[in-house]
Amino acid sequence: MGTGPVDCGAEPQRSRPSALRIDLATPDPLPPRAIARATELMRTGNLFRYVEDGAEPSEAAVWESEFATYTGRRHAVAVNSCGASLYLALHCLGVRSGDPVLVNAWTLAPVPGAVHHAGARAVLVETTPDLTIDLADLERQARLHPGAVLLLSHMRGHIADMRAVVAICERYQLRLVEDCAHSLGAMWDGRMPGTFGLVGCFSTQTYKHLNSGEGGVLVTDDDEVAARAILASGSYMLYAQHTSRPPTAVLDALAAQEANHSMRLTNLAAALLRPQLEDLPRRVRAWNSRYARVAAGLTELPGVRLPHRPRQEQFVGSSLQFFLEGLAGDQIQSFCAAAEELGVHVKWFGAPRPAAFTSAYHTWAYAERPELPGTDQVLAKLCDIRIPLALRLEDCERLVEIIAYSLRRAAPETSKKPSETDRSIL
Ligand SMILES: *Cc1c(COP(=O)(O)O)cnc(C)c1O
Repeated sequence: MGTGPVDCGAEPQRSRPSALRIDLATPDPLPPRAIARATELMRTGNLFRYVEDGAEPSEAAVWESEFATYTGRRHAVAVNSCGASLYLALHCLGVRSGDPVLVNAWTLAPVPGAVHHAGARAVLVETTPDLTIDLADLERQARLHPGAVLLLSHMRGHIADMRAVVAICERYQLRLVEDCAHSLGAMWDGRMPGTFGLVGCFSTQTYKHLNSGEGGVLVTDDDEVAARAILASGSYMLYAQHTSRPPTAVLDALAAQEANHSMRLTNLAAALLRPQLEDLPRRVRAWNSRYARVAAGLTELPGVRLPHRPRQEQFVGSSLQFFLEGLAGDQIQSFCAAAEELGVHVKWFGAPRPAAFTSAYHTWAYAERPELPGTDQVLAKLCDIRIPLALRLEDCERLVEIIAYSLRRAAPETSKKPSETDRSIL
């Protein structure tokens, strides 16, 4: 290591940025209209979505109709989490004990968790250096498991080439379910994620794009899937109170077949969500302007690589991923510690033990394919930060400075610009 007599030791002190004042992990407050609506509902006590004599559609029913309209799908079924909606999607497509379900290896634990919940086997698929599902590996797995469900996670909002994904699904009769927990408000080539396959699943958990604490929505054009999801989510014999639903005859015919899994959304959650959906376009613009500033700064830093985001992908920049390519594991660990000291919480997917919300596929003993060298390479260098809306535009520059400084501290050599390295060689 060339930490010569020069200035590597003194320099960090000189340029130590002041700490970021906001905590990246803190959620954004709910808009006043959502609070007002929830308060009004609480005065009535009608927090449960079904009533014995329901003349008026419930808040949850209206939310479903609005969400179906927003996505352009025929039906929406609101449930208590995205994980529950993923499980219901699999169950309603007829996935049963021991069936293979293809899942990208880089995703959040509730995704293989939903497969496990359905009693099925999660067959993991490799990850590309740009954080999407590896299409060549997908094709290999599809050939081994024709007719399986592909549970495609647009993890952290990174969207694969959907034309190619759909083509592979058609070639091997894969049935596509999209996990859109992080892609509400995004588009691929002008089309909304969640509308490419049979079923789309969304999350309204606090750290996603709409916040009701817990919540999920399943959307589909398929009458039978929608009917089964309504029944299995726990509609009792009150399913006619759904306003976004197939004809009651379809539900009547299936009512005795589906067990009640009690996965309902409360009216209170729906009351919080309806005003937030109206506000989503403004929030997406706000996230993206912050993302653009941070990304522009990070791209300039030596040793930092951002994943390529294709022209067709209109993403929502509510989080940002970057790779510290030149750094060893212990250096990335020091980098995270240095950034933490200055108030910037960086998640590292390569940590030997998963922490907080990140977890790596090799800790999922219930999933298949324990060895994925491509994904290992990606995870080893992958860092992740949230971009909360409370981050003011001037904080974005501070955030970049803190990352630059933390890199210099963790890896003084790597973080030098090529010209400086050249000079030190001379
Ligand atoms: C958060 C998340 C989920 C699960 O959502 P919940 O509503 O918390 O169950 C699934 N997939 C991805 C990619 C997520 O980020």
